[in-house]
Amino acid sequence: MPFDSMPQGGSRGDPWARVCHSCKMPIGVNEPTEELRFDVDPERKLEEMNGTYHAACAKPLLSIKRALDMLSWRPS
Ligand SMILES: [Zn+2]
Repeated sequence: MPFDSMPQGGSRGDPWARVCHSCKMPIGVNEPTEELRFDVDPERKLEEMNGTYHAACAKPLLSIKRALDMLSWRPS
């Protein structure tokens, strides 16, 4: 796949360009991303963290999410 050799000039102002939910920087089309969905939050405080992140920016959040998923999984 020749994705690496694609010309990237002038893609900054694309209206569909995604912005990282964490660092607010644009996410390039070739950059790895993570889609975060905190749908297990009972207090709904984490819902505003839902969004698209750079894969690197999402890493700490993914570990938080994993911890929350474990916490939320308990018999009542
Ligand atoms: Zn980011």
